[in-house]
Amino acid sequence: MDSRTIIELSKQHTMWSWSKSGPLQPLAFERAEGVYLYTPEGKRYLDFNSQLMSVNIGHSHPKVLERMKQAIDGHMLFAAPSAATPVRARLGKRLAELVPGDINSFFFTLGGAEANENAIKAARLYTGRHKILSRYRSYHGATHAAMQMTGDPRRWANEPGASGFVRVMDPIPYDFSFGTTDAERTANHLRYLEEIIQYEGPHTIAAMFIETVIGTNGIQPPPAGWLPGLRALLDKYGILLVCDEVMCGFGRTGKLFAFEHFGAQPDILTMAKGLTSSYVPLGAMGVTDKIAAHFRDNVFWGGLTYNAHPFCLAVAEAVLDVMLEEDMVGNAARMQEVMLAEMAALKARHPSVRDFRAIGLFGAIELQKDRQGTRMAPYNGSHPAIDRMMAFFKQEGLFTISHWWTLMCNPPLCITEAELREGFAIIDRGLAITDEAVEG
Ligand code: PLP
Repeated sequence: MDSRTIIELSKQHTMWSWSKSGPLQPLAFERAEGVYLYTPEGKRYLDFNSQLMSVNIGHSHPKVLERMKQAIDGHMLFAAPSAATPVRARLGKRLAELVPGDINSFFFTLGGAEANENAIKAARLYTGRHKILSRYRSYHGATHAAMQMTGDPRRWANEPGASGFVRVMDPIPYDFSFGTTDAERTANHLRYLEEIIQYEGPHTIAAMFIETVIGTNGIQPPPAGWLPGLRALLDKYGILLVCDEVMCGFGRTGKLFAFEHFGAQPDILTMAKGLTSSYVPLGAMGVTDKIAAHFRDNVFWGGLTYNAHPFCLAVAEAVLDVMLEEDMVGNAARMQEVMLAEMAALKARHPSVRDFRAIGLFGAIELQKDRQGTRMAPYNGSHPAIDRMMAFFKQEGLFTISHWWTLMCNPPLCITEAELREGFAIIDRGLAITDEAVEG
């Protein structure tokens, strides 16, 4: 099928997430290898967003494809969730070894939202409390409760939601400021949060969910000292800390798990995307020994037909092997410097660059419409110059996404320095378009 037919039929007979389907102009991809995607006509695109910040080991890794074939031949392709299987035994043990600290027990789901839904259940059942705290600058998934935790505007159409979800600002919110230094932001935000905990009643709060490094809402690591401070504050009130590492986990930040950067351990860790590099759907919730012990004597009231699906678990095992054997986490850490240097050069050359950030290969460039730092697009909005720049990237063979005033730079963790610079060379040319829209 050619691109036109694929797009026409897909638009006619399938539904699309988070968009009006009429004006959509999707790209049609037929195959992909490493960091490159190909249309049926053979046009090549550099994948600068790992599709959805999720194909962490790169596309179609031959060792994983081989292991996927082996996982089919002579094996049971589906087992009831009540069954034990060799791959369930192996992957559970492997994750227990890989996740630092005492998170040693895992509940497998099909994706990130389901991992978070089950984490809510686990936290409520374990603590006997019902409220859940989360932050406005967050995305936790599109299912019912995960959507209520989500702070970003995708929540609005899903309201009114369930009761018991309390959202707070994060230490670096949109316009309001908790301070100008990390120390101020950390101290003031934790004081603010403690006051909210008092208002809500600590005995009613089961858990606080955070994206350890905020993803879609700006690739935003926490200020220094905030995570250990949060850990201590939640401990004081018996509230569990849940780190949602669906996007920032599995090497994205240059460590296997993002919380390893910040000196504090969660009680529950949720993951998906990079766990299988999205080759097949899989998510997981990991819990500490004390929570796991609770569910040895108490029912865990959660279940899914595809819980611990043997084929998906086998793919996760193969992906983890490749990620670690080829030191892709180390590569992400090393490439951070290249990315930051490229971003700094862009900021020096382009008046439309407001700010930039990268931790590992988790990066974002913010755009401004004047030299005073006014964001080029408003909260939840867009700007025609950004749309034109995105169209230019499409034409020049760069696949990535923009989010309001932010341009995402999240390539697969196997990317080489030359490939990374190739992407930034296209971005450099594209920013000439947003530069033209800068006033003054
Ligand atoms: N949590 C975070 C931080 C995410 O970025 C996402 C998806 O982008 C999710 C949860 C939801 O995961 P899924 O789309 O697999 O349900």
